[in-house]
Amino acid sequence: MEEQIQQAINNVQAIGNLHECMTSPALTRLTSITVDVLSAVLSERCVWKQDERDSWETECGSSFYLTDGTLSDNGMSYCCFCGKRIEEKEE
Ligand SMILES: [Zn+2]
Repeated sequence: MEEQIQQAINNVQAIGNLHECMTSPALTRLTSITVDVLSAVLSERCVWKQDERDSWETECGSSFYLTDGTLSDNGMSYCCFCGKRIEEKEE
């Protein structure tokens, strides 16, 4: 997923780097916004704190109950509430 997002950033940046005679101010602005959004998707995290044995509290204000195993055991990489990448914080 991250690799695909980085590839998309590279592709959009290539469009943004076209000579002005091959593009328009609107397209340049659009590529700039797209790169900003995709870069935020790559870098932003939602911290999940394990408050009880199987219960997780999310940075974005929700909670999640996991019946068996850890987040990674269950293939959970992204927050199901806000969509950011999960950063686990066990206490
Ligand atoms: Zn979240």
